[in-house]
Amino acid sequence: MYSANPDRYNGMQYRRAGKSGLKLPALSFGLWHNFGELDPYAKSKSIVFKAFDLGITHFDLANNYGPPSGAAETNFGKILKEELGRYRDELIISTKAGWPMWPGPYGDLGSKKYLVASLDQSLKRMGLDYVDIFYHHRPDPDTPMEETMATLDLLVRQGKALYVGISSYSAEETRKAAKLLKELGTPCLIHQPKYSMLDRWVENGLLDAVEYTGMGCITFSSLAQGLLTNKYLKGIPEGSRAARPLGNGAMEAEQITPENIAKVKQLDDLAKERGQSLAQMAYAWVLKDPRITSVIVGASQPEQVEDAVGCLKHLQFTAAELQRIEDILAS
Ligand code: NDP
Repeated sequence: MYSANPDRYNGMQYRRAGKSGLKLPALSFGLWHNFGELDPYAKSKSIVFKAFDLGITHFDLANNYGPPSGAAETNFGKILKEELGRYRDELIISTKAGWPMWPGPYGDLGSKKYLVASLDQSLKRMGLDYVDIFYHHRPDPDTPMEETMATLDLLVRQGKALYVGISSYSAEETRKAAKLLKELGTPCLIHQPKYSMLDRWVENGLLDAVEYTGMGCITFSSLAQGLLTNKYLKGIPEGSRAARPLGNGAMEAEQITPENIAKVKQLDDLAKERGQSLAQMAYAWVLKDPRITSVIVGASQPEQVEDAVGCLKHLQFTAAELQRIEDILAS
């Protein structure tokens, strides 16, 4: 039987999500990859335990994580039932709906019909009475935002979610969603956007909107799915994400271009000078902005989680280092 590391709260930083009462670990853990039916269950479980042992209290899921869709929630539910469940009050568990989940007009996007049914399914798969955070996974241009936000508010009032969030909404959509939720009496806790040195769209208004509206920000794919590590410097290793068949918008080998690798090589040199791995520098670079509450770590090995948490030993950047990163990225 798993017994959590008694020192788990000594090495992690906890940051407040916007103006809410909730603190999240600076590094959270995401189950998009490596928790489906094809992944060895014992290994998936060991990654979750490693994360919790290092003070990672937040586990991020979605209805469609697998493959097949739903499998990550089922496997996480099994881990909870077998061993981790007795720590439920120390855990922040999130899930989402917004991408295609089942056939027909009610299994996708942002209607009340879809979101209510999807959260009920997620709770069943995980064996939970409630999730801590329920997200609308992506904006829906056709459903009135009033309906989607009223549904998030309803799910909180029904006790099925404690907090709500939005993912991949533009700055303008974020301001509108925040206003609607505030009027309903359920403030939006957090925004979940993609953000890394190689994808900086959030700097163009979204981070300002997040700060203005008082919500937190938790980022995904901050290693550009592994590209911002030393893993692809000498080709595509067997078993890496780029070598696996595509699914759920996963990375394509074509993203590993000579131009990108040339930049990654220079970033890796800088990371070495800073005394950390490139993955650690990539996480630290995202966390340097005080508007960022947490970065979601993805990992196929427990060692990658260990590496990630090691970034907390060196989060600061000098002005010269930041300029060097800008020069490398612009080269
Ligand atoms: P990352 O960009 O951090 O990529 C993680 C992958 O990078 C790992 O699975 C591993 O891949 C590789 N990696 C990690 N650490 C190292 C290391 N130290 N050395 C070498 N390679 C390493 O994040 P993800 O794209 O996985 O996203 C993280 C989470 O964010 C997801 O699990 C999910 O919870 C959330 N997310 C949310 C989305 C949304 O729409 N809201 C969309 C996407 C993700 P490998 O298999 O090659 O070892």
